[in-house]
Parts: sequence; C-alpha cells; structure tokens
Amino acid sequence: MDSIVFVTKSNNNFYKLELARTLLHFVEYDFTYFWEQCIDLGKSCRKLGGYSPKQFRVVKNLITKCHPYYEAQINSDFEHIVLDCLIEYICHSENIGLEELWARCISPKNAYEKAIFVRISEYKTGRAINQWANIMRIQEYARAKLDYIFEGDIVSRNMYVTRKGYFDLSFSVMAKELGFPSSELPAVKRYNSSLMPNSAFMVSKVSKLILKKINPIIDEIKDPVYNPPVSRDAIRDQISLDAFTFLRGMSRPDGMELEAAEETFANLDGEYFLPDSFKAIIDLEFDKMLESGIILQKCAKCGKYFFYDMNYKGRLCNRVSSSGKTCREMYDESKPIEEKPITNDIETRCQILYTALSNKVGEEFKENEFKEWSQYLENMRENVKTEAATIEDLEAFLEYSERMCAEVKSRPAVKVIRSDPMQAPPPPVKKREPEKAEPQKYRFPTLEELERKEDRRR
Ligand SMILES: [Zn+2]
Repeated sequence: MDSIVFVTKSNNNFYKLELARTLLHFVEYDFTYFWEQCIDLGKSCRKLGGYSPKQFRVVKNLITKCHPYYEAQINSDFEHIVLDCLIEYICHSENIGLEELWARCISPKNAYEKAIFVRISEYKTGRAINQWANIMRIQEYARAKLDYIFEGDIVSRNMYVTRKGYFDLSFSVMAKELGFPSSELPAVKRYNSSLMPNSAFMVSKVSKLILKKINPIIDEIKDPVYNPPVSRDAIRDQISLDAFTFLRGMSRPDGMELEAAEETFANLDGEYFLPDSFKAIIDLEFDKMLESGIILQKCAKCGKYFFYDMNYKGRLCNRVSSSGKTCREMYDESKPIEEKPITNDIETRCQILYTALSNKVGEEFKENEFKEWSQYLENMRENVKTEAATIEDLEAFLEYSERMCAEVKSRPAVKVIRSDPMQAPPPPVKKREPEKAEPQKYRFPTLEELERKEDRRR
C-alpha cells in the first residue's frame, strides 16, 4: 500500500494521499510566494478600498497543491485563507492585537474593512479560526513529528512505532491535563464506500437504482421523527436502526441487478477515511506510513528526508537539487577528491624522497632521524587529506626535504640499517594506524624549526 483515499463532508470527491510523499511535500512546501501575493493584494485593497472575491480566489488557488487536504477544503475551511493571512500580517506589522483591528473596522469605511470585521467576528464567536496561522502551525507540527520519529540512525521498525506512540500519547496526556474535551480533538473516521456521509451521492449510479426500488416504502412513511439529542453518541444505534426498520424484509435483488453493480463496487473496494481536521490527516499519514513499512532517513547534507533503502547504507538523499544532481551524486564526485587531495606528481615526489633518504641512512643521517622525517611526512599527508594542513604546506616540506636530501652524503657501506635495501623496494609511505594520535593533534614543526635543526646538525 503506497496510498490511501480520503473524503470530506464538504464535497463529493475522493482524494488520494500518497504515503510519505504527501507529508514530505507539505513539510517542505514554500509558502513565501503566496504570502507575498497576499500582502500585495492587501495593499491594493487598502488603496482602492475595494474587495474583489475573484482576486482573493486567484491567490487562494496558488497553494492548492500544498496538500490534498487543503485542496479538498479549499472552498470550506480555507475559503478565507487570504483574508486570514492579511489579518495576521496587519496585526504583526502594525503590532496590534485582533481586538484592536476588529474595533478599528467596526464602522467599516469600505468592503475590505467590512470583510476583515466579519472574519474576526467569526474567530471571536468560535465559528472559524485563522487558517493561515493554522497551516503554518500544522507545517511546524508535521516537521516536529517527523524529526521526533525519524531523525538519527536507522533503528528497528518497532522502535519507530514506539516513538510515534510516545509522541501521540504525550499529546493525549497533555490535552487531558489541560481539560480539552476528547470529543473536540482531531479524529479520523474509517468507512467503506457505501457508508460514507455522502455515499448516496458518491456512489450515485447504484444509489439511484436502490432509490427507485425503495421509493414505494418511503412514500408510505409518515413524518419520520428525528429529535436532536443531547448526546449524539448515545443515539447512534437508535437512529440508524430506526432507518433500517424501514428496510426490514429487504430481499436481495436478482443476479442481473447485482451484476450491474459489480463493477462499481469492485472499483470502490477498500477503506475510505474522513479526517475532521488537518492534524487528523497528518497523524493518519504517519500511522499508515509505518503500517506500510515506510521508513524515512534525514539527509546528512541537505537535511531533507528520503525513503530508507535497505541496499543503501549511506546518509545522503537521492533527490535532484537545484544543481541538477543528487546529494549522493555530489558526494560520490567529491569523494575521490576528498580521499586523494594529493596529486600523483606529489605522491611520486614522496616516494622518490622516501627511497632516496632511506638509502642515505647511516653515519650522517641517523635511523631515528629518518624515522622522525618519515613520520612528519606521513602526518603531513594525513593532515592534507583531513584539511588540517594545505597542499602548499606539504609542498614546502617536500622542497625542504629535497634540499636536505641533496646535502646528506650517502651512507657509509659499513652501517647497514636495512638488511635488504636492494632486493625489496622501500615500502610506500604507510597510512597512519588508527591507534596513533589524531593527525590534527600532531604539531608539525615549522620550516624555521626544521632549518634550525638542520643547522645544528651541521
Ligand atoms: Zn540531500
């Protein structure tokens, strides 16, 4: 399963939500352009004193693709998001509270002020919230939950489930302690295609057939009574079974009629979710993602999340960035450079010097001096690789060593340090052993110090 379908009460459409992809798209969504367009529109409204619903609609549609839930609720919950954005902007930029802005528009001078007044009145009476502020908070919430669950090294699937459980339960405990009624907190309902609130319209072809059939029963029903209850939970069974009473004795239609509906129901087989809020659908996506075994990893380079792949052990994403390459590709390209900042020419110079100096070990150039020199060289090479020293430093050291090498007389025949210098070529400069001190901590003597040392030796 890589996607789920959800519906809302506000329209008769089905919305597809691609697991993890929708979430990542939303948390990374850049609302800057929308925000700028809102402010521009607000400025022109203020200047002209007018309020053009058409212009507001155009700006509202700019962010249709931020999340399918926004798309689904664009004409209900998010109908006035542009106005919400402007209200937030005015309060923020003029450093005033909602109450003050409301009072300022209480005797509106134009349609724009009236719209602001009406909208703030809706907030004040609990009929609406500032949806622009809400969408920003939801984005922050989704990012926080993503980091809480997935940031860090790869762990077992159970651990991700545990982290999610802990996160959600912390929320529930906090809400309970604050006295927020659970019935008012976000939730998702799960339906089959025939029991959704708008199924009668959404599965319309078969519904029409059924209606035709039950019309005679409906005609005979005299004033069905529905009394709004004090507690809706208490009477759910009662009203639904009251409705069912009228279907008592309903017989199964003949084969042909059912066959006609077969294709419809085959296509609609599955689960349909009805989230009652933005948070509810964000939470649902986390649940379904983990149920489907989707695990996300945070890229060490760009900080964005990517799908965990068992065959990839690194920590970089494979998304194409503005450079046209993925972090993984960029890393792979830079890797050889990082590993081999020392050019072949310099490597050859090191080898030649090593051979030449090792052959000069003797009376004038002691073995411990050679060891010390080769240790310097080794550390220097290591430091260049880890950027603790520059390639220029290494070249300066090589120049110094070459001069020194030219001045050192060849070893006398009697003092043989290496037993087999002629048979076996000298080993290449060895890589530092891990148990040795960190190259960064090693203090490399300055050229001046080396010169002084050389002078002393003379
Ligand atoms: Zn990346």
